[in-house]
Formats: sequence, structure tokens, C-alpha cells
Amino acid sequence: MKPFATPFRQFVLKVASRCDLACDHCYVYEHADQSWRGRPVVMSDETIAWSASRIAEHARRHELPEIHVVLHGGEPLLAGRDRLARVADELLGALGGVCAVDLRIHTNGVLLDEKFCALFAERGIKVGISLDGDRVANDRHRRYADGRSSYDKVIRAVELLRRHPELYAGLLCTVDVANDPVLVYEALADLEPPHIDFLLPHATWDRPPSVEGAHGDWLIKIFDRWMTDGRPMSVRIFDSVLRIRDNRSSLTESLGLQPSDLVVIETDGSYEQVDSLKTAYDGAPATGMSVRDHCLDEVARHPGFGDRRSGPAGLSAQCRACPVVETCGGGLYTHRYRTGSAFDNPSVYCADLLRLITHVNEAVSGFAHHTFPVADIAALATGYGEGDAILALEAVQRSLRRALLGRVGAVATSPEAWRLLTLVDQESPEALNAVLAHPYVRVWAVLCLTGGADDTHLPAIAVAAALRAGIKDSLRVPVPDDALHLPGLGRLDVGPAGTVTVTTGDGWFAAEAGGRVQRVDLGATEPVPGWSPVRRLVFGDLSVVLDDVDPYRDCHQWPVADRLGEAELERWSELLRDAWRVIVGDHPAYAPALAAGLTTIIPLVPRDDGRQISSAARQAFGAVAVAAPSDAVTLALLLIHEFQHVKLGAVLDMLDLYDVADTSLYYAPWRDDPRPLEGLLQGTYAHVAVADFWRVRRTLDEGVAAEKAAIQFAHWRGRTAQALKTLNDSGALTETGRKFVNAMTESVGRWLDEPVSAGAESEARRRAEAHRETWNRSAPFRG
Ligand code: SF4
Repeated sequence: MKPFATPFRQFVLKVASRCDLACDHCYVYEHADQSWRGRPVVMSDETIAWSASRIAEHARRHELPEIHVVLHGGEPLLAGRDRLARVADELLGALGGVCAVDLRIHTNGVLLDEKFCALFAERGIKVGISLDGDRVANDRHRRYADGRSSYDKVIRAVELLRRHPELYAGLLCTVDVANDPVLVYEALADLEPPHIDFLLPHATWDRPPSVEGAHGDWLIKIFDRWMTDGRPMSVRIFDSVLRIRDNRSSLTESLGLQPSDLVVIETDGSYEQVDSLKTAYDGAPATGMSVRDHCLDEVARHPGFGDRRSGPAGLSAQCRACPVVETCGGGLYTHRYRTGSAFDNPSVYCADLLRLITHVNEAVSGFAHHTFPVADIAALATGYGEGDAILALEAVQRSLRRALLGRVGAVATSPEAWRLLTLVDQESPEALNAVLAHPYVRVWAVLCLTGGADDTHLPAIAVAAALRAGIKDSLRVPVPDDALHLPGLGRLDVGPAGTVTVTTGDGWFAAEAGGRVQRVDLGATEPVPGWSPVRRLVFGDLSVVLDDVDPYRDCHQWPVADRLGEAELERWSELLRDAWRVIVGDHPAYAPALAAGLTTIIPLVPRDDGRQISSAARQAFGAVAVAAPSDAVTLALLLIHEFQHVKLGAVLDMLDLYDVADTSLYYAPWRDDPRPLEGLLQGTYAHVAVADFWRVRRTLDEGVAAEKAAIQFAHWRGRTAQALKTLNDSGALTETGRKFVNAMTESVGRWLDEPVSAGAESEARRRAEAHRETWNRSAPFRG
């Protein structure tokens, strides 16, 4: 038989047809199709074998490089461990040497235990769990038949998966607009899923959603929050819109025009179309074919698949004329159904989809007016980047910061603060920009928008901006921790006042509470009681603030130091002066970017064990946090290393370098735990600079120091090259990401040819092997 043009790549195997919960929104039992009643409770061994054989036959015939199989139900764990093991073994056996298999199971989680996890780990089966949000949201539908809540058992299952991150595929949440969208998002995000799938409740024009027109706004609230959070996990519906916008494929059948490639195999071996069709009418998903009698190419010719494989031609006239049809694709096929016109309709969620897609497109094109020079991206990708490239990154950051401030302002509780900010922006926008450029203003804004902080810092920001602009004004400012914090300027201790009235002038301000007035002249050379200004250190082109007072600086993984005494300040000043000399003199390729972009250093508390620590925070562009090391060369290395993270974070704010839907974890040769792709990319970019640092040092230092530098160089160039290969092989880089990684690879590739002593090479190899062995020993789940 001639192969069908579009092969199936996704297979849903119904290994059990019953469920131990009785969720009232379930399309399998509660909607029009009731075929489950006549099906075997579990898939028989014969059907398992036939299914595996048919899938393998199809993959071989179409030379598919990879297929996706989801073990589904009912509740698939009811099939039992032995049967699930047989399903996996049959599939992996039949498909061995044919193609790669992405094997998953979608469960309600209530039966999940360590034994199931061990089975899934042995066979590489990833687990997705259905959870509709917090307890209130989940209990709304996901209950046992006797009304008991399933919430605690589901959370226990998710916690189990969090202890086995290699198995944790993500969470599936059915939308109910009666739930608060942000609470739902927060409840799911708190469980750190690599992926969330928000599913619109299945509905048709005959059986419309109980609340119409509210689902788009519900999802938009989550989208906005997800964007503000920096997209901490993949969200299938949003990522699909963003991917289609970039001319890439959708991640879901519910969006886009790409042909459907999914088929269902029921417990009795019958082939069915997409499962959700059970909502349309009794028998809607049926094909009349089964694994015993029909190959998958025959199934693919069933007319039910035809509509979903013919692009715009398979859509209604209204959809074909729609401005977002490329992204929407008419929504999920099932949701178009109406008695009489069948599927020749727009989605019953048409208005919601139009709103959501338009909103997402508008939100991401907020940055479209920034034309970032290609040459600057190329220079950054090599691991370096001149000052101009950093200034271009800063321009994008400025837009981002202003957008965040606008969102805080939209819900701010101090209209007076907003009035003053608006006034400063009219009279001296550069003064407002200077305050917003303090790295921890963005940290606060994001916390504010994500519920981690309130907006009481906003008046202090307005005062700092007015001060910089030299505007005479007056504002009441909350001081919840007995201090007035002016970002980038300093801290004034005011005592337990609760609120102070701050008057600003040209170069001075005064804070008044309870009849007591404290005046601060910013240019004063003598100490002002209670006033702790940030200290600026300037060495040549480098001008940084040593900030030991900002209340939002404590966002790094290490504790931040309190106010430095004069002796500590002196030590920092000498260290930084000498480190800057090292950078300018020995590592000049990094100096222009640091001079242009490093604005703030946060002193950290040194560790008792003497281990050197440093950090960069994703939201704090321009800042690095460091515990003062014992020597200037180490500080130079730490500044260069951490500023790589700052640069790449800003690039990632602007460009998608990898597929955010990728949930795989990867070996990073400098960590004991597997890393998501962004973590590996960040570490690799930083270690390109680390390898380069030691490459240079081995030629500058002498004797033992030179040999140590040679070992470090051999070690880090090898590890970085290994990480670059992992990135390249991941298959998860975007086109831009591939170019970025290729440029890094070229930099490191040149260094691999540079000679080092046999002793250094052998020591580097020994360290790498020791790390790999430790990693393998400590992680039985990792291949
Ligand atoms: S938004 Fe509505 S009209 Fe446009 S493609 Fe989607 S379902 Fe069709």
C-alpha cells in the first residue's frame, strides 16, 4: 500500500478504560460518547502486541526519526505495574532500531507511588499529572464518586515526581473560569513543573461552555503573569502562539494549521480520532478500524482525519477570512461541532481565541521597535561583545523596565507617587531612567507583580527620581522597616515612623515625621546622622555602586552583607581597583562590556569554609554579587564570569535561543544535578569566559601559578566544549540559538588546538572523569 502523505507521529494508547475518580468535567464519561461502557477494562496482551507492531510498522514505513506515545485512560495506572511494563517493553522492543520513542503517561496521580516511579525510570516513561490548581480549584471537579477530594493524593504524587525530576513531565490543568486564574497559576507554578498544559473545557456549539467569552481573559491574566515571571516553565498554549509567530510548529492540536498527526488506540484495539471528539456526539471519534485488521496508513485515509490535514481549506469560511487564522487554525476540531453544519464552523471559543492570540502578539511586539544590530548579537555570541552591544542590550532593558513600572502603576495604591513619577518623566525622563536602571528596581517590580512584595516602594522610587531631576515636591512615603530606601542613592534610618513626608529639592531632601525633620544634602562631605549613601567606586572607565543598603538586593542564592564598615570599604576599593587593572591589562576583551554594563556590585557574606561565592540574578541587569575574595585576580575572574550571566540574561529577555517547550534535563560538566536547557546555556556561556581567562593567565603567570592556570584552562576548555556539544545535540535550539551556540563553539574550538603540557592535560582529564563518575553514581535515573 502506498504510504499516506502525512504519517501519524503521536499515538494515544488507552491502556485502561475506567477511572478511580469521577471528575464531572471528564469528556470520557460525562460527555456525548459513551463507548467506554462496551470496552475491555484494560488493554489485553494481544492488543498491546498488535498496537506496538502497527506503530513500529508505520514508523518504519515512513522512516520517522521519533514518535510520541502517551499511555492514557480512563486512569492508566489502573492497568497495573505489570501491564504497563509489558506495554512499554512491547513498544520499546518493536521500535528498537526503528526510531526514538518519547514515552509518557498521563495520570490523575492518586495511585502513583515509588514502585510505579521505579518502573517508569527503568523504561524512560515521563509522567504528566492532571491538577486544576489549588485545593479549591481542584476540588471543584476532580473528586471521587462519593464526593471526597482527590487533592491531597494528587499533591503527594506531584511531590513524588519532584523527587524524580527526570520523570516529571508537567501538569495538565482544565480551565474553569470560576477559579481565580492567578491563584491557579501560582498553585501550579509552586510545584515547579517543567511544563503546564491549560486545556479549555471541551464544548461544542450544541453544548457551549457554561460561561461564554470569559476564557480568553482568564488565560490572558495568566499569560501576563507568566511573562512577568520570565516564563519559568513551558506553557503549551502560550508557547504555541509564540512559536507560530516565529514560523515554527504549534505544540498542540488546538492551535495552528499544521496537519493532525495523532491517533488513539482504545483498550479493545479500535482506532479512534482525537479523544476530545467524544464531546461532539456518540460515536464521533470512531473509525471502524482496529489494530488487528488495519494498518495505520489505512486509518490515515479515514475522512475524519482529512479535514484536520487540509490546512485552511478544511476550515469554515469565517475562519478562512480571520486575521489570526494562521495561529488559531479554527481552534480544536471538536470545539467547532454543531448539529447540522457538523465541523464547518469557527470554534465555540472563537472570541476567546481571537482575544488571547491578539493580546499575546501585541505583548511580544512591544519590543519590536528595538532593532538590535546583528553584528552586536554575533559579537556577544562569541563570548565577548563590545560596549556598544551592551548599550543596545541596555536600551531593551529600559523598555522592559518601563513596561514593568507601567504595570505596577496600573494597580498602584499611591496615586500621588504615580503623579510625581509622571511629572519627572515629563520634565526629566533621563532622571526617571537613571532610577529605573538601578538593577533592584526591576527585581522589586517583578516581586510586586507576582505577589512577592507590595507597592510601598513606589513612592520611594518617585522621590529618588524627583531628587535626580532636581524637582521640588513633597510626598508621603511608607517606611515599613524604619528606613527610607532611595534606590541607587542610599538609606535614611527614620525610626518607627510608619510613614514620612519627604520634600525634595535640587540636590537635597528632607524627611519629616512627628515633628522631627532629617535633612540630607547629597553632596555633603561630612557624615549625616542616619544617612547611609551607596558608595560609588570609580577606576578609569569603570564606575560602579557598591550597594549594601538596597532592600531588594537579597535575591541571590547567597546571603548579602550588611552595611560595610570603613575598613571593609577600603578593602573593597583596593580589591576592585586592582581587579580592574587585571581586567584592563590582562583581559582587555572584557573591559569595554564591563565598563558599559556593570553598574552595581553587591557584597555577599563570605562563607565560613572559605569557598569563593558569586552570583548574578536574572532580573537584576547590571549587577553582580560577590563575596570579597582574597586577591584581585580572583575578583577579576568572578566579575568576568558573572557578567557573562548578566549579558546572556539580557539576550534571553530579547531573543528565543531555545525551544521554551523543551522540558529535558541535560548533563552540565560543572554540576552534580541535571540542568534545564537555559541553565546549561547560561553555564556554558559563563565558562567560555572562564576558559578564556585561564588561557590568558597561563601565559602571564609563572612557575606553579602558570601550571595551575594551564590545568584550569585544559579543564574548562574541555568541559565547555562538551557542554557546547550537548547544546548542539539537544535539538532544542532555535535558529538564532544555533547561530549563538555555533559562535561560542568557534571560540572554544580555536582554544582546543592550543598546546598545554601533558601534565595539565592529564590532570584535566582526570578531573573530568572523576566528575562524570560521581555524577553517574549519584544519579541512578540518569543515562
Ligand atoms: S479566531 Fe475564530 S474565526 Fe479566527 S480562526 Fe479562530 S475560530 Fe476561526
